[in-house]
Parts: sequence; C-alpha cells; structure tokens
Amino acid sequence: MRSEGDGPISGAGALLGILRDGQARTRAELVQLTGLARSTLAQRLDALVSQQWIVPTEEAVSSGGRPAVAFTFNRSARVVLAADLGATHARIAVTDLATEVLAERAAEMPIDRGPEPTLTWLQRTFEEMLAETGHSTAEVCGIGVGLPGPVEHGSGRPVNPPIMPGWDGFPVPEWLGGRMGVPVLADNDVNIMALGEHWAARPEADHLIFVKIGTGIGCGIISDRRLHRGAQGAAGDIGHIRVASALDTVCRCGNAGCLEAVAGGAAMAARLRAQGVEAADSRDVVRLVRGGNTQAVQLIRQAGREIGDVLASIVNFFNPSVIVIGGDLSEAGEQVLAGLREVIYSRSLPLATQHLTITASELGDRAGVIGAAVMVVDHVLSPGTVDRSVAPG
Ligand SMILES: [Zn+2]
Repeated sequence: MRSEGDGPISGAGALLGILRDGQARTRAELVQLTGLARSTLAQRLDALVSQQWIVPTEEAVSSGGRPAVAFTFNRSARVVLAADLGATHARIAVTDLATEVLAERAAEMPIDRGPEPTLTWLQRTFEEMLAETGHSTAEVCGIGVGLPGPVEHGSGRPVNPPIMPGWDGFPVPEWLGGRMGVPVLADNDVNIMALGEHWAARPEADHLIFVKIGTGIGCGIISDRRLHRGAQGAAGDIGHIRVASALDTVCRCGNAGCLEAVAGGAAMAARLRAQGVEAADSRDVVRLVRGGNTQAVQLIRQAGREIGDVLASIVNFFNPSVIVIGGDLSEAGEQVLAGLREVIYSRSLPLATQHLTITASELGDRAGVIGAAVMVVDHVLSPGTVDRSVAPG
C-alpha cells in the first residue's frame, strides 16, 4: 500500500490507511495487522464510522460460525473535484475517494486568458458537474488543480510560469477555495500526472519518472513513493536540458540548445511546416504520424532518440524502475518509444537498466485528473488530517 502511514499503527488515520485498499477486514484481522488492543481498535473504528470514512459490512466467516462484522473503506463518503488545465485545453472530473471518475469533461480553455476568467469558468463547470452527478458542494472534500507551469508547493501559487501570463503568484487555492468553500490544492501538471499514473497503474514502483511529451517536455519524479519537487518546485524540468543537436536553435525560454526546442511538439510542428507539411501543434504531429506521413514519422523517431539521450543520463543518475511516457505525443506509441528505448538501453549503465520498464502511459489524457484527485485524497485522508478530524472536541 501507500506510504502515508509511516510509523507505528496507532491513530485512526493510520488504520484508515490500511483500509483504503478497499478490502473488507474483520476486527480480528485488524488486531492482527495493527497490534492494537481490541478496545483501542474499537474506539478507532467507531471514530472512523462516525465520520463515514468506513462502513461496517457483514462477512460470512469460513469456520461456519456466525457472520463477523467486517469494515470497509467508504469510497462514496465524499467526492473530489479535479482539473487538469493545459496550455490550450482542460479536462475536468468528479471522482469518488478511490479516484473512480463519476463525471468528466474536456474543453478548449486557453490558459493565457488569465487566472480570473479561467477559474471562474472552472468554478461554473465544477458546479454544473456536481449537479449532474447529484452531489452538492457540502459533499466535496477537496479540489485538485494541475497547472501547466511551476507551482510553489505549500502555497499552490504559480511561480514565473512561462506560458501563463497574469498567473505569476496568483493565489489559486485561496481564490477558488474562498468561492467554493472547499480546500484547494494546486500543483504542476506533470507532477499530478506522475501521481495519477503511479497510483492507478504502477503502485508497486518505488521510483518512477513520468515524462510528458506535449507542446513542451517535462517530467514528474516519484522518489521513494513520494513526489520529488525540488527546492523551488522546478525538479524535472528536462525540456530545458541542453542537447548538442539544438545548439543553433533558440528555445521559448530564451536559451539556445534546449531539448524541447528540437523534440517538443511545438518544435516538431514548426519543422514540419518548414518542410511544407501542415501542422499547427503536437496533436497534428500525432495525426500525421498515425497517417504514415514519412517526414512526421522520421521527426518523431528522431525526437524519441533525442529525449532518450537525456533520459539515459537521468537513468544513470536516478535509477528509476519505471519510465512512463505520457502527453499528446505519447499517442504516437511505438514510433516514439522505439528510439527512446534504443538510446536509453544502449547508453545507460547496465545495472540501472537491468529491471527498467519503459512504457506508454496507461491513463493517457486522464492521468492529470486522476492525479489531481489522488493529490486531494492523499491530503484529506493523510493520517494526521484524519486523526484531527476524529479528535474529540
Ligand atoms: Zn529552454
């Protein structure tokens, strides 16, 4: 399971951490798992039942005796609102506490309209979707928002986001939370994608890198099962690592030689246009690759090798067990993965690649909203928060 309940199982929150896997367990099983005295366990269970975090169910016992009461995580106790705001489009979802999507929408929403128009639209969309699913804001335990730029951890404020004019330092959690009366958490979109993919598809991986190849390139890092953000929240910004083939190309960040200036979706679309092929953005590049356009296929294979070259160093440095490739361009599938694998396996240390899996995202364009929901649920159901919510008085 998750690593939320570090330390001895003592509080109600740590007990809930065990039950979050959805499996029903009897008192006897929980005593064995936690080492708690029966009376202490009973108190903890009562507290969690009174908060509706868990529900009692009748389970037949195999020994043929009378049915024993078992307790199971109540995934419907609250709902979560999740948003993945990209440069030009947004995906919004309502999920339960197990991050199952109850309702979902995708829409064109350019982030450069600025924070207030975007968040006003987001609030209205959330309210419509809650009504659709028959829920009220009183049932919402939190809102998770992914943003396409660096976000300061703790405050949830964007920090010098290059493609988000007007958003620098904007208090997203206070603004939206104040209007909806619900706690709001915000993070960088690639970070939440890493969280979502780890939670839903790769829970066994302790060290995972999620690489988003879209208009730009970035990665989210799960280290020892936790998100690694770095000192300023800038960890994983691999799109601006210098590569030899890009030295005479100026990047949108102002430097020359950045990876994304040759291997990002925007750069590839520009190169195709220079060759007389019509391509406006990364989605057009994927469409062309799927249609078998020779120039697009050549470009994306080369991009895979360029990205692989940077990742080969990262593999040596970080030694992940899984690299997940997501973002628009991952939909080109093997065309991008082949070159990437070839370079990583040939350039990284054998010890680091011995058990390394390189795979396309399983969640696809849902990784962001699932991850935003995971971020909220991990926060709301963290042992400390649960312990405080069930504390008497
Ligand atoms: Zn750059």
